[in-house]
Amino acid sequence: MPECLFCRIVAKEIPSKTVYEDGEIYAFEDINPQAPVHVLLVPKKHLAHTLDVTEASAPLLGRLVLAANRIARERGVAESGFRLVVNTNREGGQVIFHLHLHLLAGRPMEWPPG
Ligand code: 5GP
Ligand code: ZN
Repeated sequence: MPECLFCRIVAKEIPSKTVYEDGEIYAFEDINPQAPVHVLLVPKKHLAHTLDVTEASAPLLGRLVLAANRIARERGVAESGFRLVVNTNREGGQVIFHLHLHLLAGRPMEWPPG
């Protein structure tokens, strides 16, 4: 059994609310949403963070963005706007060390982020 929480969610060992799934991507509702739309998108293959992305896995990042775009359109927030966030390591605010995109939308986002 994998130790990584998001690997276990991908494997359906831990339940989650599925938003989208294909052969290499899994998207699910964040358990503690920070906005009306808060979806997490992860590669099914374990990568700890963006520092693990290689030339070989770089296209996967593009497909994560495409999946996020699709979800944003489905949720009706593409035109109003949304934010994609990828936290990396401690000062980046990363808590779960399995690469993930946060798709946040449904309220005005502030800048600079906290
Ligand atoms: P990070 O700070 O690592 O970028 O974000 C981790 C995110 O994972 C947080 O937004 C947190 O709410 C979410 N999260 C943590 N544990 C679980 C869980 O068991 N299920 C789901 N669906 N989300 C989780
Ligand atoms: Zn993992």
